[in-house]
Amino acid sequence: MSKPVIATASLAGCFGCHMSILDIDDRILKLIELVEFNKSPIDDIKKFTKACDLGLIEGGCCTSENVENLRLFRKNCKTLISVGECAIMGGLPALRNGIPIKECLEEAYLNSPTISPNDPRIIPNDEELPIILDRVYPCHEVVKIDYFLPGCPPSADLIWNALTTLLGGKPLDPAYQTFKYD
Ligand code: SF4
Repeated sequence: MSKPVIATASLAGCFGCHMSILDIDDRILKLIELVEFNKSPIDDIKKFTKACDLGLIEGGCCTSENVENLRLFRKNCKTLISVGECAIMGGLPALRNGIPIKECLEEAYLNSPTISPNDPRIIPNDEELPIILDRVYPCHEVVKIDYFLPGCPPSADLIWNALTTLLGGKPLDPAYQTFKYD
């Protein structure tokens, strides 16, 4: 019998949520028995090669490339999960949302005290570069998201329980205590 297929992506995230997936420790061996990974930084498969059952998204949308990738995941994954605060609310990258994009770019590339005097002070403008969006968008503002796993990052146990619940064909309804941090 064929195994359920999982894909994962990091958009505007720090890979901490992917680290938390790996933090399930030796349960990763069980996961590999249970599922097959498709497009994901975990196995370095860069393109979808088949339809997937679950898509796990880390990070929100900061660039046009993030939006394209997220839409691709929505198209190829039956169930899509926003994993972590960056995917759910924009997270730390969204701290720039109150500042005009022009000011952000000037601060980063022209005015920052960390730019070496020998570096050229230019805002990168190669046409190959993804377009930076006016603000950082949470994933559910771009595509339909089926489930949300809160945390920064969500705990390995929360991720493991979510995966095994969904792979078992049950709906996900994590108890409040599993993601309460105070
Ligand atoms: S939610 Fe936290 S751990 Fe996950 S990508 Fe964002 S900053 Fe990193």
